Amino acid sequence: MGYIYDSKGELCCDFCGKPGAQKYKCPFGWCQPIAACLECRKKNTKFFGKKYHRQIGCELNKQKAIADSLRRQDALNAGKYIRTAAIRVNENIVKVIFENKEGQETAYLMSLETYKKIPIGITATVEDFMSLGEIKKTCNTKLC
Ligand SMILES: [Zn+2]
Ligand SMILES: [Zn+2]
Repeated sequence: MGYIYDSKGELCCDFCGKPGAQKYKCPFGWCQPIAACLECRKKNTKFFGKKYHRQIGCELNKQKAIADSLRRQDALNAGKYIRTAAIRVNENIVKVIFENKEGQETAYLMSLETYKKIPIGITATVEDFMSLGEIKKTCNTKLC
């Protein structure tokens, strides 16, 4: 979702469309700030409050993101390799590339089913996948 600007480059209100809006941040710092003019800001207070943003999941998502980035940092500091990319080898097999803190790569083959057990965007180590299914070390170059 992008912002709307008028021909003079002024930010327009998300509610009424008039230029001269200001951005109001999500109380949990998660979703995109809302552009609103003073009048609409006053008329639509509920969209700026914690209650509304909690309802749409901002608080939870923010907490999850913080928890995941801590987990990621811990894993890297412990010398673990973290998923960075995946290549579909065939219908059922995925080659997953992992990287450690030093930027060294390693790669494993696993079934698509195992791969999908950890959603994209969540920190996943080699060990995480090992605990979920059979994985096999493979060469590191991305094209082999
Ligand atoms: Zn407005
Ligand atoms: Zn929000």
